[in-house]
Amino acid sequence: MKTASAILPYFVFQNKPVREYFPALHQQVYGQSLVYFDNAATTQKPQSVIDAIATYYATINSNVHRGVHYLSQQATEAGEETRKRVAAFIHARHAHEIIFTRGTTESINLVAYSYSKLALKAGDNIVISAMEHHSNIVPWQIACEDHGAELRVIPMDENGELLLHTLDNLLDARTRLVAITWISNALGTVNPIQAIIQKAHALGIPVLIDAAQAAPHIPIDVQAIDCDFLAFSGHKMFGPTGIGILYGKEEWLDRMPPYQGGGEMIKSVSFEKTTYNDLPFKFEAGTPHIEGIICLKAAIDFLEALPLTEAHIYEQQLLQYATEQLQQIPDLRIIGQAKKKSGVISFIIEDTHPYDVGVLLDKMGIAVRTGHHCTQPIMDFFGIPGTVRVSLAVYNTVAEIDRLVQSLDRVVSMLK
Ligand code: PLP
Repeated sequence: MKTASAILPYFVFQNKPVREYFPALHQQVYGQSLVYFDNAATTQKPQSVIDAIATYYATINSNVHRGVHYLSQQATEAGEETRKRVAAFIHARHAHEIIFTRGTTESINLVAYSYSKLALKAGDNIVISAMEHHSNIVPWQIACEDHGAELRVIPMDENGELLLHTLDNLLDARTRLVAITWISNALGTVNPIQAIIQKAHALGIPVLIDAAQAAPHIPIDVQAIDCDFLAFSGHKMFGPTGIGILYGKEEWLDRMPPYQGGGEMIKSVSFEKTTYNDLPFKFEAGTPHIEGIICLKAAIDFLEALPLTEAHIYEQQLLQYATEQLQQIPDLRIIGQAKKKSGVISFIIEDTHPYDVGVLLDKMGIAVRTGHHCTQPIMDFFGIPGTVRVSLAVYNTVAEIDRLVQSLDRVVSMLK
């Protein structure tokens, strides 16, 4: 068992606790200091990101791409700087393989619409897994319905691990895409995406990776893992809300039709014929989320300045400690016991409803998420209405976990 004293009391970054950089963590709710354990839903923002947003509006606020004037040029340059920064962050070959979207959800919808229009025909199939977020299920259901294709699902076991041997039967000559989450937001399972990509590629099938939960925790190298598409959200990695990324291999993006029509995505328009713009602008119709794009760079700067290996080890220690402590609580059952997990602990307590547990914890100053976490099929699989989910970030501490456990003891005595 990992004793609390064997773990750093908090993660230190540039000579001070990393949580010092996050102003929202230093507030009281209901008269108690906030414990924020809802990081899989969205992370708090460091001061540098908050400052970047204010600076943008105080200085170069302007619409991009269309202006000849100074501010517009500055904003355009700053936005394109972020695109290069994102490309470097995930090791994309080209900056034009980075498409700005509203978030993971829109990135997946873009591929589901546009790639399916290119490649999906009646009788084809798409393969996803049993532990997908709704945003990596519903877009594929819609696409399959539209094109007369079949949606196939890689099953999982009671530990929350995918049964990968089933891939041999699921993938066939009519499989057009595998879309899979890297890390499950409800179970914390880290999936062996490399093995899945290799299996799919052996049959010439492209793979989309939902990296919404991976981007804040795992170094991403799209060329090394050789995925065809990868989607993630800025707000889950210390960045602003409303900005997301779709990475796509040039060879696919070039061939795919646009997702939305409008300004910016065209070269020329007449009533007879429209010519589409080059990558990446073909997929970026309308005024983008300029402030979000520009300030995403500040989030990546912060994330990359963190010593990632140490941060990962620290998060894993917190996960192990929290798991062991929570298991001491009578009648508490952890949902998702995969061997390889990220900092997510979902649990239920017998004879209590997750919602009631969440509400009482909130009144004690502890923010957790309750419910199905946009993964209803996972809840159905385990035969439960939902879970209480504790999701960790590098700014969480051992003391916060201790407070959670003590508070849960009180919650249980109140509810039972
Ligand atoms: N995929 C996973 C695994 C997620 O955890 C989430 C959000 O929780 C999403 C997709 C959707 O992300 P967003 O709401 O930022 O589009």
